Amino acid sequence: MKPEELRLNHLTWPEIAEGIASGYRRVIIVLGATEQHGYHLAQATDEVIGMGLAVGLARRLGKTYVAPAIAFGLSEHHLKLPGTLSLRPETLRMILEDVVAAYRSHGFDRFVFLPSHGGNMAFSSRMAETFQELYPSDRFVSPFDLETMIRLMATFETDHQLPRGSCGGHACAFETSLMLYLAPEMVQMDRAVPGYTGALDEAFVKKMFQEGITGVSEVGVIGDPARATRALGEIFFDKTLEVIHRALEAGE
Ligand SMILES: [Zn+2]
Repeated sequence: MKPEELRLNHLTWPEIAEGIASGYRRVIIVLGATEQHGYHLAQATDEVIGMGLAVGLARRLGKTYVAPAIAFGLSEHHLKLPGTLSLRPETLRMILEDVVAAYRSHGFDRFVFLPSHGGNMAFSSRMAETFQELYPSDRFVSPFDLETMIRLMATFETDHQLPRGSCGGHACAFETSLMLYLAPEMVQMDRAVPGYTGALDEAFVKKMFQEGITGVSEVGVIGDPARATRALGEIFFDKTLEVIHRALEAGE
């Protein structure tokens, strides 16, 4: 068995069977998205970031696999811009039910739902609670929520002297730095322009979900990617991983 490969869809079934038998009973399921990320980031951004974090988390945890990402999310608020795909919540729930049912039948009993897209975060927490009630002998956690992400980004701005509002959470200095670190070939820095850089308060969130992204930013960006760098991406990646890891340990 390949010791470094933790992505289930890169393994063969005998390797997975052997892994489960040797104690690999936890699986991380990334709830990603396929959606517009401004002029400069590829539509796969949330999938790439989610899988990067998931593999990092699996390494830290040990005896943990990473499922293929569910790369379609709840992205209705981005649908106005071409390429974005969005599932209805009931569709996403059914996909998650079928994925979990299959893995349970193979012997997995600890599930981590990892949302890498803001629009999936509340849903992911709800699903972890729902599945926990459904299968009380297994463990379901969703260790990353919107509040944590917003707090984390504010810390990044302060710690790295980035302008207030530059880490807005969507194609911003935070996501763009992560992408420069994880998949630089998907970043076009010469096309990066700022979007909404105001406060991420309740009124803003309400407006964005009601009017869609173009109601708050014509280019489809929340934040300012201009100051993004690969070096910051590495720092943000490690710190985000640490925060998720801690939340997971507290929640499991
Ligand atoms: Zn994103």
